[in-house]
Formats: sequence, structure tokens, C-alpha cells
Amino acid sequence: MANLSKIPSFDLKRNYERVKKEIDVAVLRVLETQQFILGSEVADLESEIASYIGVKGAIGCASGTDALLLALMTLDLKEGDEVITTPFTFFATTSCIARNGAKPVYADVDPLTYNISNDEILSKITPRTKAVLPVHLFGQMAPIDQIRDTLKEKGITIIEDCAQATGAHRMIGGSVVHAGAVGDLGCFSFFPTKNLGCYGDGGMVTVTDDEARTARLRRLRVHGAGTTYYHDEIGINSRLDAIQAAILRVRLRHLEEWNEERRIVAERYAALFAHYNLLDKIMLPTELAGGRHVFHQYVIRAKKRDELQKFLETRGITTRIYYPLPLHLQHCFSYLGYRQGDLPVSEMLANEVLALPMFPELLPDEQERVAAAMADFYNK
Ligand SMILES: *Cc1c(COP(=O)(O)O)cnc(C)c1O
Repeated sequence: MANLSKIPSFDLKRNYERVKKEIDVAVLRVLETQQFILGSEVADLESEIASYIGVKGAIGCASGTDALLLALMTLDLKEGDEVITTPFTFFATTSCIARNGAKPVYADVDPLTYNISNDEILSKITPRTKAVLPVHLFGQMAPIDQIRDTLKEKGITIIEDCAQATGAHRMIGGSVVHAGAVGDLGCFSFFPTKNLGCYGDGGMVTVTDDEARTARLRRLRVHGAGTTYYHDEIGINSRLDAIQAAILRVRLRHLEEWNEERRIVAERYAALFAHYNLLDKIMLPTELAGGRHVFHQYVIRAKKRDELQKFLETRGITTRIYYPLPLHLQHCFSYLGYRQGDLPVSEMLANEVLALPMFPELLPDEQERVAAAMADFYNK
């Protein structure tokens, strides 16, 4: 047992080994040009992403957080305006609403998919609701398409947080629609551990079909300047590096393959947990019919979660908790006035969820070790 190697929650080195040759060539190409900010690499990546996702506009920026910030800036939100979102997500989803001067309004999530619930969204709409910001959590799309027409009738903008779901899609009206192409705007993160990650920070906003908004986003990321040094409005500095864009162009070509491998890893987990009779101790992630989950994370709900996590650590298996404290209970959002018990599903999940090792290169032997260790824990 002591000699067994560790099983990390993700392993970027294994992935780099597979594409090292292509990546190194791409990086050197940029070094030769000495053009590091925006430029043709970024423009090429933008058109490749736009055509992959199936949207008209794509605007590279400095991070997923900035993508959310920029997308929300195009709504010109004012004090008192409301944006409905999920409390069970990464911090940036809500912070960008607050940083734009609007009020985050939380809708609780579905206990099977962990995604924001459409019924909950509909129950939170008021005359001040300007946007809905669903997160396609852990790689599975929230079924926001089912209420898209209702939201549109009310003039509510849909901004999808796609940071964890690049390549996820759903069948909508008989065709395949990617995360980012359902609503008005999509926000992507290229943080290294995301399904499509770069080797630093990076992000992108996609615009489904609105040329004026696309043009505005292009200005907002360069200090609001339409022409250099002539500022139409106050923007921010949020540009994508050419080196990161070149790396992303290589990695985008492999994304479908890697997402399929993640799905195979997920299937192997499901088979192993059934084999070890663990299905009364843990609850596996649910995949909605008609959708393609791309398993950014493989998140189970587990009895005695914290003890299980400690036990797995003693077996060299690293797991993570996404997310231990829902956003409505975070100290910095206490001014919103939420209390424990207000969003019971999110609060329950925070106590039960556990993200198991998940990355395309995870080996069957390693998964066998994870499942066997979990069986030891529950049978001891
Ligand atoms: C990673 C992430 C972000 C932020 O992306 P960064 O590139 O790290 O700024 C936003 N929302 C969700 C759901 C994320 O997972």
C-alpha cells in the first residue's frame, strides 16, 4: 500500500505530454512574431471558438471572471436591478453581478444535477429582473432553454456561465446546441484546469446574435476605446495574450476527444460503484436526457462525506469539495440578507458533495483503486 503512487484530482502534466510537440511549435511561432497582446492569434481563436460553439461573436479577454464582468457591463445595470443566479457555484458568478452595481437574487438548485432550477428561477422574477445567469455546473448544461421564451417575452437577458462546460451541448428543438449558444451571451474560462484550458489565465465572451453588442465588448476590453486613445465609454483592461491564444488553438482541436475520454472515465466510475455495491452510500451524478455532460468534475453525493474524504487521502487519493459554502451564506454577501435555511438544496449539497479525481488521462487502474478504497471505507 505504501508504495502506491498518489492519485491526483487532476494532472496537467499527463495532458501536456500528449500535445507537447504541437504546443511548443505554436508558442515558438508567437515568440518569432513578438506580438503578444491580441493580434491575429487571438482573432483566429475567436473565429474558431465562434464556429465551434455556433454563435456570431466571440471576444477574447483576460479570464472567465472578466468575461462575466464584461458581459454584464453591456446590460448597463443600475442600483436595484436584479440578476437571478445560483448560489451553488464559484464565487465569480455572483461577484460580477455585485461589481456591476446590481443585486444578485438566488434561485435554488436541482438536487440531482446541482444546476439552477427553472421553477425556482421563474418564482424569483420581479419587474426589476434584468438578467438570468445560470451556470452549466461541473460540465452539464442547465436546461435554461425550457424557459428561454418566457424570459425573452419579459425582456430578460440570459447570460450563460460556461466556465465549466466548454463542449457540452443539449438537443433543443431537434438540433444540437452548445453551451454558450442558448442565451444571449456565453462566458468561458480558460483557466488551466478547465476542459479547454490555457497555460495561464484567459477567457472569452460569446455573443449569440447581436453585432452591436459584439462591437461594444471589443471596445470594453480595451478601456472602452473605439480607436486607440479615443474613449467612447469607460472600459477595463482585459485582453487575451497571443501565446495563450496559440496554445488554445492547439488544445481546441483536441477538445472533443478529451471530453469523450472524460465521459468514458465517468462511465467506468459508474460501473465500478455498482460493482462494489456502493449505490446506497453514494449518489452518482445524473445526466439529463438529450444532453452531453462533459464532466469537468465528477461530483458524487456521499454519506459521511468528510470522513470519506480523509480516508481517501490516507490512501493517496485527492478529492475536492466544490463548494463547501453556498454564496448566499458568504460573509461578503451578508448585506443581501439571506439566512441559513433559505436555499435548502444548495445547503444540503454543500455538506454532501465530493469531487473525485477526473481528467481525460485517468487510468482504469487508478479508478479501480478509488472505488476499492471507497468500498473499504463504507464496509469497515
Ligand atoms: C472558473 C470559473 C469562473 C472564473 O473563471 P476564471 O478564469 O478563473 O476567472 C467563473 N465561473 C465558474 C463557474 C467557474 O468555474
